[in-house]
Amino acid sequence: MIHANTGRIQQHIEQIATFTATPGQGTTRMSYSAQGKQAREYIKAQMLAAGLTVREDAIGNIFGKLVGKEPTLPSVMIGSHFDSVPHGGAFDGPAGVVMGLEIATLFHEHRLTPRYPLEVVALVEEEGASFGRGLLASCAIAGKITANELDTLYDSEGISAAARMTESGFHPEGVNSVIRSPQSIKAFIELHIEQGPVLEQSNTDVGLVDTIVGISQLIVTITGKAGHAGTTPMDSRQDALVATSRMVSQIGDFARQAGGATVATVGKLQVFPNGANVIPNKVVFTVDIRSKSADRLNQVIEQTKSCIQQNAGDGIIYHIEQPLYVQPTPLDPSLHQSLKRHSDRLGLSSKTMVSGAGHDAMIFAGICDVGLVFVPSRNGLSHHPDEWTDYQQIQKGVDVIFHTVKEITEATQYD
Ligand SMILES: [Zn+2]
Repeated sequence: MIHANTGRIQQHIEQIATFTATPGQGTTRMSYSAQGKQAREYIKAQMLAAGLTVREDAIGNIFGKLVGKEPTLPSVMIGSHFDSVPHGGAFDGPAGVVMGLEIATLFHEHRLTPRYPLEVVALVEEEGASFGRGLLASCAIAGKITANELDTLYDSEGISAAARMTESGFHPEGVNSVIRSPQSIKAFIELHIEQGPVLEQSNTDVGLVDTIVGISQLIVTITGKAGHAGTTPMDSRQDALVATSRMVSQIGDFARQAGGATVATVGKLQVFPNGANVIPNKVVFTVDIRSKSADRLNQVIEQTKSCIQQNAGDGIIYHIEQPLYVQPTPLDPSLHQSLKRHSDRLGLSSKTMVSGAGHDAMIFAGICDVGLVFVPSRNGLSHHPDEWTDYQQIQKGVDVIFHTVKEITEATQYD
């Protein structure tokens, strides 16, 4: 049985990790920065060495293609993103890109010719750290980004995404040419670090994702009345923070009662005027709700809204915005089964999982069949310089995807 090469995986990840704007303080690699360009050149060189034909699209996604026996058939695409958050880790993104490089190398090494073309992809701008727009590249591939949007998204220096792309030699005005039709992709398989503790704690080799959670975010503004903390009697107060605390203390229970791994988080809370001796007159807080079931997601959103309503009144006014609502995304069941079968054949332990975070795979699910494989994150840590996955664990994930890809590209050996 063919196995991926752990040493090569380690070498690629360590090399890509050197392309950081913050050496010694984690990975900081914006897509259109000098470090992004260094990573790009490295990835392209590795694709060429693995015998792939390399091209970059109009916004800088890198594709390495092994055409195979029937060039007009749709591609089996594998990969992930190569940008990072500021001071992030070496594995979020690159683990999946390196999976693609390693599988192409295995095809090359073992003289495998696919019937369906194999395409390795390294995507830009997944994190949204440059322009505040996560999943930008995969959204562009799905036809969900316009040239106008690229002109109006800005980085922290006030430079537009389009200008950054042009500066790097790309053609944002041609963003429509980036779109891939469902007829051009047979399947997309991504490997990603788990970014949570489940696999490590259960001593499981690979997580096979069957659903990416639905996400809703609410921004809630509670308005009361300011007053002197010493001279306003307790009975004549309209304290926005006291009202807020009654709301916040219940929101977690709604998620717990909904079950099915539904989660709800109040992660941000701003108190105004925020003075030690002033009764708070305004509080703004966020609620992040996630669930694999649309019904449970909607239930917790509704419970949260009515809880806010019930705890207002008596001079307390509320306002709720919902800037984000994404339905849960089920991934392809037959691809999930194939990944499971190959994991079993390789003697690996696996677990069917829900992805609590959004990934490029979620967007590809609108175009083609999608598979997503997680490998364990040490201490569940991610978006942190100490983010870590053992190279042997990545190798196991690559093995599962390699054998699945070999099967679905209908690859055969030549001499
Ligand atoms: Zn990622």
